[in-house]
Formats: sequence, structure tokens, C-alpha cells
Amino acid sequence: MQNQEVYDTVTAKFSEVFGSKADAVAYAPGRIEVLGNHTDYNEGYVFSAAIDKGTFFAASLADDDSVTLVALDVGETFTCRLSEVAPIKEGMTWANYPLGTFNWLMEGSPAKANKGFKAVFGGNVPLGAGLSSSAALEMATALALQKLYGTSFDKTTLAKIGQKAEHTFAGCPCGLLDQASSMYGAEGALVKSDFRTNEFETVAMGPSVAFMMVKSNAKHALVDGAYASRRQACEDAAKYFAGVLRKNVTHLRDVTMAEWVLYRGGLPETTAKRAVHPIGEDERVLQGAQLLEKGDLKGFGALMYDSHESSRNWFENSCEELDAIVDAAKAIPEVYGARLSGGGFGGSCCLLVEPAYADKIAEQISREYKARFNDEPVCSLIKPSKGAYLI
Ligand code: ADP
Ligand code: MG
Repeated sequence: MQNQEVYDTVTAKFSEVFGSKADAVAYAPGRIEVLGNHTDYNEGYVFSAAIDKGTFFAASLADDDSVTLVALDVGETFTCRLSEVAPIKEGMTWANYPLGTFNWLMEGSPAKANKGFKAVFGGNVPLGAGLSSSAALEMATALALQKLYGTSFDKTTLAKIGQKAEHTFAGCPCGLLDQASSMYGAEGALVKSDFRTNEFETVAMGPSVAFMMVKSNAKHALVDGAYASRRQACEDAAKYFAGVLRKNVTHLRDVTMAEWVLYRGGLPETTAKRAVHPIGEDERVLQGAQLLEKGDLKGFGALMYDSHESSRNWFENSCEELDAIVDAAKAIPEVYGARLSGGGFGGSCCLLVEPAYADKIAEQISREYKARFNDEPVCSLIKPSKGAYLI
């Protein structure tokens, strides 16, 4: 479904269910990670983009203390009283995202709102597919409820409210990337996030390129353990560098590539290998920003290929399927760059492409992937698009 159609469906349903037009309607998009892998918890940099799909949230205040949430995409309705707003452990767990967002918008005391609200929401970001439908739902909720309740939090604070909803209601210990990308996205631009200062800026990319996400269907076992051990290795390495470098080091953000080369010998080999990935990714994001300013898309694409090589060789968070997609991409002249996107060990690759050749690129990659794994990847063309807004 296109965005306009989703908007029409959500607002019509609101009028049908509640007998009047919604007083606030907000939209928030999903996101893709473009460059800067496993850098967030190392207080580093990430390039991401808001996608052209998202969630619409239509709401009005209730006459009493009731909260009503109609989730169009799952065909369920949740109701409770203001005093009952709390994490849902079983059943309609989707309600945790809007409820948690409301809870923290009210700074943890929803009862102080006096009046409840009624809402209908729906979207076109596939759920649980790595495009962050959860952040889209939180940010659309936050903007609509902010209007109804007259709060005036800035974009970063709203993003943090969504993150807190994930932590405390949905039970997902995520970083701030998804919510910030949804809030700060802009048409034809990337969002550059600094996870030390929590500052976000947009960097123009121009309309001549787009991204293609290629979803592998691969999901390898031991992902949680592998993730935890990578995180631990980064922490261990940061501690080591804090001891040998004559400067303040709290995270790998503080270590340069030159310092890693000089001092890596003092680290266990695996720890050294893991550490160089976020260090290199930080440098690539900073270099990428300069290349984008010069309009050098080929150069930016080369950094994406470097990023994947670093995942493959050093961080070892790639897998056969993702490597095959990137190798297939390298042989196609209309692809500028490609890399795994997100945690790794499966999931998706992100390609920088010339949109006019999207069909040809998708066909060629799918053909090679199928020949090898007897399975079709899902290819979707994504144009960096505007972030969340109130309608
Ligand atoms: P992702 O954010 O990558 O899509 P998550 O597991 O973080 O995956 O979030 C997906 C969950 O968010 C869904 O299982 C559902 O509970 C909730 N959700 C997001 N968007 C919607 C929606 N439009 N309707 C109902 N639930 C939604
Ligand atoms: Mg999510």
C-alpha cells in the first residue's frame, strides 16, 4: 500500500469507529542503516536514512480516562484506564509501543493526563523485517499525542521517549538509531548520528541514487551469544587502550586506526580483530560525509564495500549469504557499494544503486543467489525520505 492509501484507510477507520474526525494525525517512517556498523554502543557514528514507508497514527482525546488503541494491521483493539497503563507481557504486546510512548511522554505518570485518548493506527513498514516498524509506531504516536496533550518536547527528546518505551515496555534494549532516523530523516538525505553527543544532522545525497535492501532470509544460530561476545570484546579493547594511550579513552570512539595499528600487539588476537571494526567504521562515516559533500557517490560506495570487508574479515558478523550478495553486487556497474546492514549473521544487505537500473540489479542478484542457495532474496528499492511529521 502507498502512504496516501494508508493515510486514507487510517483516518476513515477512525471516523467510522469513533464517529468524528481525529484531532491529531501523525506520520513516522521506518529506517535503514547505511554506514557505521556496531558503532552505537562504542559511542561512534552512523549514517542512516528514513525510508518512504511508515506508520500513520490518528488520535483524539477521550471524554474520560479510557485509552483505546485500534491496530488496523493486526485487526485488534486494546483498551484500558489511565491508571492501568503498564507493560503488557502476554497477548496484545503491540500495544506496548504506543502505551510506553504515552507513558514516557507523561514522564512516567500517565494518570496525570486526566483524560485518556482513542487512536487508530496502521502502516506499510513490514513488521520485524529490520526496517524498524517499532520506531515508526513510537514516533507517530509521540507526535500525535504531543499535539493532544500540549507537550513541547524536541525531536531528540521524543526519540528518547520512544527508546525508553522499547526498553521498559517492549523489553528491547535498543540504541537510539531507529527513533532518531525516523525523526530526523529528510528527502534525498542521510542522517548522520553521533552516539556520544546524541547529535543528529542531515547530509544531502542528491536524487540520482537510491538504496536497495536485499533481504537474505538467512538467520544463523548463536546470534545472541555472538552479539554479546562482540560487545564484550569492544569493551575489553577500550579498557586496554585506556591503559596504553596517554589520553582519556572510555569507548573505542576514542581510538584511531593509527593507534590500533601501533598497539594492537598487546591485545589477544580476537579482541584486536573485533576492535578494528568499529574504529574503522567511525573513520569511514566521517570520510563518507566529506565525500557526500563533494558529490562523490562512487567514493561513498567504496566505503560501503570496505565496511563489508571489515565485517567479513575482522568482526566476523557476516555469513555466506550476505557475502554472496555483496560479491554479486560488485560485478554490477550500476551498484556503487554494498554492505551488510544491522547486527549481521543474516538479515539484509544495503546497496547504493542507480535507481533506473533497479530491476536489472534485483534480477541479477536474485539469479545468482538462487543458483547458490536455492532461495529468493527480497529486493526493495528505497529512496531516502522525509522524517516524522504532524499532518
Ligand atoms: P522492527 O522494528 O524491525 O520492525 P521489532 O520487533 O522491533 O521489529 O518491532 C516489531 C513489532 O512492533 C511488531 O511485532 C508489533 O508488535 C509492533 N508494531 C510495529 N508496527 C506495528 C503496526 N503497524 N501495527 C501493529 N503492531 C506494530
Ligand atoms: Mg524495532
